[in-house]
Order: sequence, then structure tokens, then C-alpha cells
Amino acid sequence: MTTTPPLRRVTGMNDVLPEKIRVWQHVEASARELLAAYGYEEFRAPVVEHTELYQRSIGEFTDIVEKEMYSFVDQGGDRLTLRPEATAGMVRALITNGMLRGARHRLWCTGPMFRHEKNQEGRYRQFHQVDVEAFGFPGPDIDAELIALTARLWRVLGIDRVRLEINSLGTAESRRAYRERLLAYFRAHEASLDADSRRRLEGNALRILDSKNPEMRALIDAAPLLTEHLDAESAAHFAVLRTTLDDLGVPYLVNPRLVRGLDYYTRTVFEWTTDALGAQNAICAGGRYDGLIAQLGGEPTPAIGFGFGIERVVLLLERLGKAPAAAVPDLYVVIQGARAEREALPLAERLRDALPGRRIVVNLGGGNFKAQFRRADRSGAALALILGDDELARGVAALKPLRQESGQSECALADLPAGIEAALTAAGG
Ligand code: ATP
Ligand code: MG
Repeated sequence: MTTTPPLRRVTGMNDVLPEKIRVWQHVEASARELLAAYGYEEFRAPVVEHTELYQRSIGEFTDIVEKEMYSFVDQGGDRLTLRPEATAGMVRALITNGMLRGARHRLWCTGPMFRHEKNQEGRYRQFHQVDVEAFGFPGPDIDAELIALTARLWRVLGIDRVRLEINSLGTAESRRAYRERLLAYFRAHEASLDADSRRRLEGNALRILDSKNPEMRALIDAAPLLTEHLDAESAAHFAVLRTTLDDLGVPYLVNPRLVRGLDYYTRTVFEWTTDALGAQNAICAGGRYDGLIAQLGGEPTPAIGFGFGIERVVLLLERLGKAPAAAVPDLYVVIQGARAEREALPLAERLRDALPGRRIVVNLGGGNFKAQFRRADRSGAALALILGDDELARGVAALKPLRQESGQSECALADLPAGIEAALTAAGG
């Protein structure tokens, strides 16, 4: 007999198992609720776009475009890419749908992103983001609002041990001047550059600054600072952002080395990091991209956004002991006898009508009394409802708390919803 080897999952693309989903849903629901409270609307864009969109927005000399994209040619000959980030697709969608024209939008989206990176804890090839974008606001008021929103999200989730770093990258023009200075600096040290950096030298010297190679660290630390070459308007924008954050009571650190790994950023950039996740310490990052929309063929529109990684926030909640407990049933229905078997499902439906929101699991697939109680116990349910032929004949059913020593009681079938509520309250639920 030949056996087929089991199929493997794709490296870096993970299954989210039911035992973990509660934490994911907690993060997603908290974000969804908060975003609604700030007036942000959900937007759903495809996970596949033309490859050219990412080449033109993220930039040719970035890690993402150089080596991380999942790109393919489809049956019709189109060159497509699984989205490595959400902003470019969102901008494309706004242009396609004619939504700009001077309008303002506060939008967000969530879903999978794809990057062919080295697979390790906190760094995956399919990962998930909540991505928030504001279009048509020149800032810096909206910059501060977005940052305050992230700070509130950490508070709501009970996350401490996070730190906010901010910087200003200036305008495209001021950056061009800075790039020339950087180019001169790195050219003077060309012998110390690694292969990646040497390639980026002529292409985009700024990209050398986000090299993750530790051997490049000292050279990068000694490079000229962008903050010293900021244009007057960007400097004023940044100063107002800082005082607004002070007024809001959001602590931050100005990090003049923060450049971010995508080309489209202008002025404000920010990043939240934690010391509780090891090397994958960035949980949320974003910035302003005032030039991107025009660069992609839309009406010039200022914009700013950020994304946070759901996997990393989930990991962080677990590390900090702030992950919510798994959901358990409220009631497990144990069945004994032929009549009880017939009446169990209709009764459970009536209970679901009367007790919306209560989690009710019926023992299906049979099993003797002992086996059913074992399942009830393992389900984590607070309460068992015992439906037996003898009791049904008398118009009653039995209720038994499963997490306490208190004994079994009987309840008239007609009074079951109230009886269950009372028993659950007594059991602490
Ligand atoms: P890093 O510096 O860790 O590579 P990044 O700057 O590439 O992060 P962004 O493109 O800014 O990340 O994406 C925003 C957020 O998405 C990050 O702060 C992080 O939480 C998450 N993220 C990015 N890449 C991954 C990945 N490969 N796996 C899991 N989460 C990720
Ligand atoms: Mg990265």
C-alpha cells in the first residue's frame, strides 16, 4: 500500500487556531470600535494589485520591492503582486473611484499582507495589519490625532512597555538636497559599505540608512542628519506636532535616524516599539505621504497613515499577560433517553431565542451519560442542562453547575430561560 505524504503549509504562512482566535478578535474588535469612535470608515481593497503600483510607490531600492514581493504573471499575462502593504492599494482605489477631488476621508482597512522575509517569531510571510489612512488633511493636527488614537489603542488593550519615536523627513525637495550630502558621505566611505548599500548608493542613498546590518551601524550613526536640513515649513509642521503631542500628554522621543523603509514618506514619520518582543520590536508605524497621490496620477492630496501588525500585538498581549481568556460555553445540554433526544434541538433553539448572546452547546453524536458529562466538563461550560425522559415526563429539566460544588436543581421547562440565567449568575457568569 502506498501512502501519500501529508501536505505541508507554506513557510511563513500560519494557521490561526481556535485557541488563539480570541486574542485576535479582541485586538480587531478593539481597533474597530476605536476607529469608529474617531470617525474612521472601513474600506476594503483587493489583496492583489498590478506590480507596477508597488514599484512606483514603495520605491525600487527598498527591501520590499528589491526582494520581498510575491509577484506573478496571471493567465492573461498581467504582472501582479500580492500586497506587501496597504497604503498604495488604498491610494489606487481612491483614484480609481474618483474619491479625491478635494474631499477628505478618514479610512481604515484590515487583512493579510505578503512579504518574502526571513521567517521567525514576529516576522512572517503572510501577516496581518490594521491600516489607517487620512486623505486631504495637510496636518499637523491630523498627524497628532492619529498618534493619539494609537496611544489610546494601547491603553484600551492594556499594553504598556511601548515607546513612541517620531521624526520629520521634510519635503521631497529638502530630502533631495539631503540625499546629495548623504551620497557624498557614503561615497567617501565606499569601502566600508556592504553589497546592499553599495547598490543603493547610486539608486537611493537614503535607503542605506535603514540597513539592518549591524556592521553598517557605526557608519550610519556618523552620517549627516536629515533634521539639520529640514526646510522651514517642515520644521514648523514638526514643531506644532510636538507641542500638540505635549498638550495631549502623549510622550514621545524624537529620533533623527528614523527614516522608515518606504520611499513615499514626507514630513512626519513615527514608530511604536516595545522591549518585550526581542528583535521584532516594531508594532506600529506610519507617516505622511503628501506626494504619493500625485505621483500615482491622482489630484495632489496630502495624506498620512499608519499600520500595526496584528500578530505582533497578539504576541505582546500574551507576553504581558493581557490576552483575554478563551471563550467557553455558558450551557452544555446533556441528553438522556429517546424522547429527550428528539426534544433537545428544538428546546435549544427556544433557549437561543430567549437568551440571545448566551453560548449554548448541545451534546450531539450520542454517548453515555458519563461520556457526555466528561465532554461538558472539558468544554469549560459553567452549567449543564440535563434533559432526561423521566424529567421531561414531569415537565422539568435539571440544572447542574459544573465549576462549583453546589448540587443539581430542577426547573420547570416553561421557566428554563429564567432558571438558566439565575443559575449562571449564581455561578458568576
Ligand atoms: P520591521 O522593521 O519589523 O521590518 P517594517 O518597518 O517593515 O517592520 P511596516 O512596513 O511599517 O513594517 O509595517 C507596519 C507594521 O506591520 C510593523 O510595525 C509590524 O508590526 C508589522 N509587520 C511588518 N512586517 C511584518 C512581518 N513580516 N511579519 C509580521 N508583522 C510585520
Ligand atoms: Mg520590514
